[in-house]
Amino acid sequence: MAFTATVGNQQVSCGEDQSMLDAFLRAGVWMPNSCNQGTCGTCKLRVVDGDVDHGDSPADTLTAEEREAGLALACQARLRSDSVVETLGGAVGGGITHPLRDLTATVLSNDEIARDTRRLLLELPEPLAFHPGQYVELTVPGTQLRRQYSLANTADEDKVLELHVRSVSGGAATERWIFTSMAVGDQIPVTGPLGDFFLPAEDSDDGGPMVLIGGGTGLAPLIGLARTALSRDPGRRVLLYHGVRGVDDLYNLDQMAELTKVYPAFTFVPVLSHEAPAAESVHREGFPTDHFIEDVDSARGWSGWLCGPPPMVEAGVRAFKRRRMAPRMIHREKFTPAT
Ligand code: FAD
Repeated sequence: MAFTATVGNQQVSCGEDQSMLDAFLRAGVWMPNSCNQGTCGTCKLRVVDGDVDHGDSPADTLTAEEREAGLALACQARLRSDSVVETLGGAVGGGITHPLRDLTATVLSNDEIARDTRRLLLELPEPLAFHPGQYVELTVPGTQLRRQYSLANTADEDKVLELHVRSVSGGAATERWIFTSMAVGDQIPVTGPLGDFFLPAEDSDDGGPMVLIGGGTGLAPLIGLARTALSRDPGRRVLLYHGVRGVDDLYNLDQMAELTKVYPAFTFVPVLSHEAPAAESVHREGFPTDHFIEDVDSARGWSGWLCGPPPMVEAGVRAFKRRRMAPRMIHREKFTPAT
């Protein structure tokens, strides 16, 4: 059985057991979204008319008062009747995006690139259109567990996806699959693209300076974003901080050196939080967000891009605001654990 959701002048058919977000994105109709697991609240919308089942919507993301007021999380809610919905805050409801798709990928490589960190290269049977900075979901074999991993690719690299994965102790996807049993040649289901962590379209990109701060594997989407921004304007000021615990956690240093050589206004700053940098090294000590405050007097007119552990992302938002970055220019992707 399917019901119809109407948003603006668009109508989308939603299966009985399909989230509204899934139905909209598969139909190529844009809806704001980020974590796709009910924890961030980005996809919150208003059900103006109709009934929904809130499913597993967590009470701290969608409060009882919000449910009462007709709000719902699109990534969790299932329609129980034909409904009319509105996105909040005038966000895009009727735009077209790259449709969400299910593909079966072949594992091309699964290599250790830093301490507890793997690079996965996944070959797709056909190209997947996405915006650099978005992510895909992998389903852990033999389970219904889905885990999100950001794409390190630029848009033209649409046939072999590059993911950076950090091991989590006892983790179903990481320690018990990717770091142990996932082998080259394995066929794995991939769903994507998802998320709203991407640059404005080229014709509405103001070309202003950018600061990107990644913690650990939070570097992944920043690579695609930085390379895309620099290819649009090779003279653009792009400041990329990579925060890690120690030198052994750094990776893609050759790529960073190459970008620094090719683009004079690109700066890469590796920052170690739990290790004193060796004498004469380019590494800094402490937290990347603090270094940004020291390095940049005013971030008016800048855009900011934060990705990685939620506390680092929150610290970055505070740092950007302290340097007067406009809130609408602050973009974040939090690696929230699955609930
Ligand atoms: P789980 O089985 O989910 O967790 C095992 C235990 O560890 C649980 O108790 C859990 O609460 C806890 N736990 C989980 N994660 C952490 C953590 N980070 N720190 C401390 N405790 C934790 N990860 C990447 O490595 N690279 C990415 O590019 C990436 N992109 C993401 C994009 C998005 C939008 C989101 C929401 C998450 C992303 N993540 C990324 C995190 C990833 O999706 C998984 O949550 C992570 O790999 C752990 O999955 P797991 O199944 O191994 O662990």
